[in-house]
Amino acid sequence: MQILIDEARLSSELETLATLTHVEPAANGTAVTRVVFSEDDLKARSWLKGLASKEGFSVREDAVGNTFIRWEGTEPELPAVATGSHIDAIPHAGMYDGTVGVLGGLEAMRALKRSGMKLRRSIELVLLTSEEPTRFGIGCLGSRLLSGALDPARADDLKDLTGEEGSTLATARKAAGFTGPLAATRLPAGHYHSWIELHIEQGPLLEREELRLGIVTSIAAPASYRYTIEGLGGHAGALLMPDRKDALCAAAEMILSLEKHALATGAIDTVATVGTCEVYPGAVNSVPSKVVLQIDLRDTELERREGVIRAVRWDRDEIQRRRGVTVCEELINADSPAQSAPPVVALLKEICTESATPYRTMVSRAYHDSLFMARIAPVAMIFIPCHQGVSHRPDEYAKPEDIALGAHVLAEALARLASEPGSAG
Ligand SMILES: [Zn+2]
Repeated sequence: MQILIDEARLSSELETLATLTHVEPAANGTAVTRVVFSEDDLKARSWLKGLASKEGFSVREDAVGNTFIRWEGTEPELPAVATGSHIDAIPHAGMYDGTVGVLGGLEAMRALKRSGMKLRRSIELVLLTSEEPTRFGIGCLGSRLLSGALDPARADDLKDLTGEEGSTLATARKAAGFTGPLAATRLPAGHYHSWIELHIEQGPLLEREELRLGIVTSIAAPASYRYTIEGLGGHAGALLMPDRKDALCAAAEMILSLEKHALATGAIDTVATVGTCEVYPGAVNSVPSKVVLQIDLRDTELERREGVIRAVRWDRDEIQRRRGVTVCEELINADSPAQSAPPVVALLKEICTESATPYRTMVSRAYHDSLFMARIAPVAMIFIPCHQGVSHRPDEYAKPEDIALGAHVLAEALARLASEPGSAG
């Protein structure tokens, strides 16, 4: 039975979704701002639910607004095969990030239904709430709650950064019509048979290498730390060099230590950045007494990432002793990297090979909802090329034929996974 993706309809639905937004003029491309639970987001959600109902798919929403669009299989008691992504967009972003996975997923389901296939397992398309951190300061809110990566008791208190003083996730979700305890959003491991997310690459590799698809084998995850270095301040003229405990000189050594140990892993996937450096008191003729550094460290392997920070700590101990300063480390956030499930990756490769689709395997350096879905299901991601790797900008662009091809490979994969009796891995 043939799976046919309606490329024209998929493109026009992406265009329509881009209008359900706080539209701003953009010099080139289409500017999209769709903050979670805003009027635009709610409009887009109800339009999407309408498309799903029209197709005869059932719709369920949880307490944080994660939306589950389901096509029942012939054995509905079996764990479903799932796909999905997000429709929220940061201010002045583009029209493909996330939306390709949601509308592409919907079109994949419709194409399977049209083909007349009868699949054992149900297929679910999940619209995940607030992948972007714009409103609540934390990314992947919906998938964190689903997978148990975020404590529901803590989540309701998250500050609404765009709302009035004192407003929180609790008030914002209630106002949007999503009530009930957040604890109920959690899905157990094994709830889904497997999960595949279709997404634009947000990097330049596929286009540069003239490939049509990327199959993601692992998703890098960041850890962020704050280092506060305290020394001794004083007059830049009067405080003599042998007596100094210069916090900025110590900070400089800390920065270079981080760079050295990130390079020393020898892995291209280890990346470390000190993006901010606040110096106190911050005067030209005053010896720095305190420095605050913010560190972003990413890797596809948790053990390697932690190895870097351990090595930095040894240097820190030595720097503290030698310079007479104190260096205090605070962990701001650390997510675990995820590996795709080898059987799902193998299946995607097989489909690409059969259809003579030029592809490569790759690492996702940005993180996605799939990072958290990996905690409860075997996952993989399909990347499609995006022009010059541009994303989170109005000129973000993906070709309609690439989007359609991605949806086609997704549909093939969903069909084969939904025919499997056992677990995907
Ligand atoms: Zn995204």
